[in-house]
Amino acid sequence: MLRIYNTLSRSLEEFIPRERGKVYMYNCGLTPYDYPHVGHARSAVIYDVIHRYLEYLGYEVIHISNFTDIDDKIIARSQELGITCEELTQKYIDVYLKDLKALNVKPLYGYPRATEHIKEIIEMVRTLQEKGFAYEISDGVYFEVRKFKDYGKLSHRNLEELRSGARIEVNPEKKDPLDFAIWKKSREGEPSWDSPWGKGRPGWHIECSAMSLHYLGNSFDIHGGGDDLIFPHHENEIAQSEAYTGISPFARYWVHNGMVEIEKEKMSKSLKNFFNLDELLRDYDGEVVRLYLISVSYRKPLSFDIESLEVARKNYEYFNESFLSINEDIERNNKGDVPVEDKILQWRSDFRKAMDDDLNFPVAIALLFDIFKFFNGNKEKISSKEALKLKEFLNEMLGVLGIEHLGERRASVLSSLKDRIMDVIGFLSKNEALRKELSSIDKEMAVNDILQSLVDLRAEMRLRQDFVSADQIRDALKEVGVVLEDTKEGTKYRLVST
Ligand SMILES: [Zn+2]
Repeated sequence: MLRIYNTLSRSLEEFIPRERGKVYMYNCGLTPYDYPHVGHARSAVIYDVIHRYLEYLGYEVIHISNFTDIDDKIIARSQELGITCEELTQKYIDVYLKDLKALNVKPLYGYPRATEHIKEIIEMVRTLQEKGFAYEISDGVYFEVRKFKDYGKLSHRNLEELRSGARIEVNPEKKDPLDFAIWKKSREGEPSWDSPWGKGRPGWHIECSAMSLHYLGNSFDIHGGGDDLIFPHHENEIAQSEAYTGISPFARYWVHNGMVEIEKEKMSKSLKNFFNLDELLRDYDGEVVRLYLISVSYRKPLSFDIESLEVARKNYEYFNESFLSINEDIERNNKGDVPVEDKILQWRSDFRKAMDDDLNFPVAIALLFDIFKFFNGNKEKISSKEALKLKEFLNEMLGVLGIEHLGERRASVLSSLKDRIMDVIGFLSKNEALRKELSSIDKEMAVNDILQSLVDLRAEMRLRQDFVSADQIRDALKEVGVVLEDTKEGTKYRLVST
């Protein structure tokens, strides 16, 4: 049973969808006026894991996320650059979608844009005005919060508290400082659409209501977004949507993710431009970034720093190496008598338990460590058949977490290296001191084992103080792109491009 934290009730609730077998999900998307940053990536990855887990549980997931493709920032930026709003937003939408692909975020059911739903938005504003929830003043149409008795139910504060706590623009024409624009009348030279209130454009909050209701219907299942959106954005979405439809709740489960935090000082020094997602993905594999982004509970803030990112890279490499070992075990026709079936049942139950407990990603990742550790510790004793079962189970878990390329990249590099490593062995065999030991290596061995034999042989040469032979092994391997590194835990090898 999946339990999920609902901001609306401030408690963990059992997840029961509106329709049997289907989940309708919306999360607030991007305002594409600049390069996406790590915060956008975190949000997208979190809702992607939730989406994947719901599918894993057997639900069909109808998931959409919007693009706010018209607003003050977009207008200002496009004027500055001398291009149209469409040119500006299309550029950054393309960058964002490309980056999401690198992060293994599944394509959504739809990415509706505000400018493509002006008709629905105008209809909503008009109805709200007719029902007496909205009024027109000189610069636009405003929603009157006092008319909506439940205003504040998401942020759990009353009007008085909200008024004193909020940064609110002062406009003497507004009936209440908390009233917010649902339609903005345009100024000269701004993009605009015809409406009953003259030329104008939608306010920000109204677009999410109009689009989510349009695609997902009343009382859809999950509404997500960053926790910085709870007030006023989501509070306003609820007010105008429920006032418009007369149906409560507008959305049943309100899910909020923590922000990515960054120390200003660090940002300028060690982090370079890495807060910019596009730059980050040039230096770090998308799956490493993804693993990093889900390493912290989704509701907590993530303090962004390179040290933790490097930890994620090392963890990813460990997963990758271990996964490769499993692949090789399968190929090798290993015999063994350590069963994994019961273990898998336990692990699957642990995985479900972690994910059912408000999507506890860090526990799921810790479980991955346990599984790989178990395999690495019992490698020789696990048969190929059992290793295959283990791999299938791992793929099940990794599919939910969206880590989908373990073993692939290294595996293809390694297998393409085998011939070259055999050449290295031929070359090294010219050395009398190495020849005998090298003769036990044959081409049928797994490439990992061949490399390990070479690492062991080098260690033995060093022990015998034959440093010339030891260095010869190291240098010859380096020639083909295998770098040996001596660490506290022994010698390791790393692949570099040659
Ligand atoms: Zn929104």
